[in-house]
Amino acid sequence: MNTPQVSITPRNNPAVFDHAIVIGSSIAGLAAARVLSDHFARVTVIERDRLPATPDFRRGAPQGRHAHLLLPPGQAILEQLFPGLNTALLAAGATFINSGPETTFFLDGAWHDDLTCLSCSRPLLEDAVYRRVTARPGVRILQGYDVLRLDVDSRRRYVTGVSLRRRGDSAEARLLADLVVDTSGRSSRAPQWLAQLGYTPPRETIINPFTGYTTRIYRRPTNFDQNWQLLRVRRTPPDGTRGGLISPIEGNRWYVTLIGMSRDFPPTDEAGFMAFARSLPSPRMVEAMQAAEPLSGIYGFRNTENRLRHYEELPRYLEGFLVAGDAVCAVSPVHAQGMTSALLGLEGLADCLVEQRHRGNLNGLAKSFQQRLRQATDNVWQLITDDDLRWPATIVTERVDSATLLRQPAAASVTPMVTG
Ligand SMILES: Cc1cc2nc3c(=O)[nH]c(=O)nc-3n(C[C@H](O)[C@H](O)[C@H](O)COP(=O)(O)OP(=O)(O)OC[C@H]3O[C@@H](n4cnc5c(N)ncnc54)[C@H](O)[C@@H]3O)c2cc1C
Repeated sequence: MNTPQVSITPRNNPAVFDHAIVIGSSIAGLAAARVLSDHFARVTVIERDRLPATPDFRRGAPQGRHAHLLLPPGQAILEQLFPGLNTALLAAGATFINSGPETTFFLDGAWHDDLTCLSCSRPLLEDAVYRRVTARPGVRILQGYDVLRLDVDSRRRYVTGVSLRRRGDSAEARLLADLVVDTSGRSSRAPQWLAQLGYTPPRETIINPFTGYTTRIYRRPTNFDQNWQLLRVRRTPPDGTRGGLISPIEGNRWYVTLIGMSRDFPPTDEAGFMAFARSLPSPRMVEAMQAAEPLSGIYGFRNTENRLRHYEELPRYLEGFLVAGDAVCAVSPVHAQGMTSALLGLEGLADCLVEQRHRGNLNGLAKSFQQRLRQATDNVWQLITDDDLRWPATIVTERVDSATLLRQPAAASVTPMVTG
């Protein structure tokens, strides 16, 4: 790829900013691109995967193979960003399910048993959002490119773009921009990038209840006596480590997900998968599985810890560089809050950008956005981690700088400590 010659808008242009880069085209990246497209003449989303032409699983979002429910606040934010999205998803085979008395979710500080969840495959949701974002003027997606690092001005005070490489190529290219938003998920290298530029990387809090997911997709049986839409076997701390979920997706299919806590990981081989399902406290899940036709392999996922990077408290900010989504606050999947939390964290971005437009530049945005994001996601983080601390095997880790790891059992208080 030739190095694109993108001019940088003078940072005092009051009308509109010129070019923003978003790293990662998943839920947070696409939502960020949508918001940015109201304030920047051009938005480039850089994605390391080549995106499938029709909804399908992809390497960069491996969690898409596992049950994904979208809770009401996430639905509302997406609908506001993309009017008509919910109707389109329904038409494509998604289902809205009232979670009912046997399912409870944390939300806004309380348990709820009456939430209406959106249930469809994760690729369907992502594809629908992707099509709407890329239809907006000025938005483009560079697929198959890895962002390698941030580029900065000679005094390292503000970001000037990113260095990137097409997958499979050795040559690097540079893309200039006024703003870079990192939404590259759990694998984000933003802390290392900041450290290499002489900035203090964020403190990290990790609360790990050692949750494992194993999922297979099934064709829903036609003549099965099913009086539920969503089947959920709850795990119960401290000893009831095993649970599961069957959720409907488009194409008359089910995600069948087995969940194990405290390192009681569900196996990914056929015999082990079925044995784990049989061991659940209720036989209903395995009965449904036996009546259904498996359509996929069995996929496991264990990179599920709760991890918060405290970008809201950096002593100094690289101007024009923001971090959002799982790259900041990644939560354990069993609470079905990750996408909603990513969207809540981006809700303040539009307001921040309006303020910056009044100022006529992007100075101070990094700090104000990261502080808003932290406030917006604090409730979700607290509720989920409080719940996960009920598992005796949960470990709390406070990472104060990239060289320091301090592990403590969950019961102990978390005291940040800097050691050599
Ligand atoms: C097993 C499991 C089940 C889950 N279930 C639910 C659920 O039911 N409900 C819910 O709301 N949430 C759920 N989640 C959480 C949800 O998947 C995440 O919170 C959400 O995907 C976060 O989106 P993101 O855009 O921040 O990051 P990601 O989805 O991780 O996307 C990051 C993107 O960045 C790209 N990328 C990474 N590095 C680079 C780079 N250097 N250059 C270019 N591109 C790059 C990747 O390819 C990817 O496309 C679940 C998570 C897991 C693990």
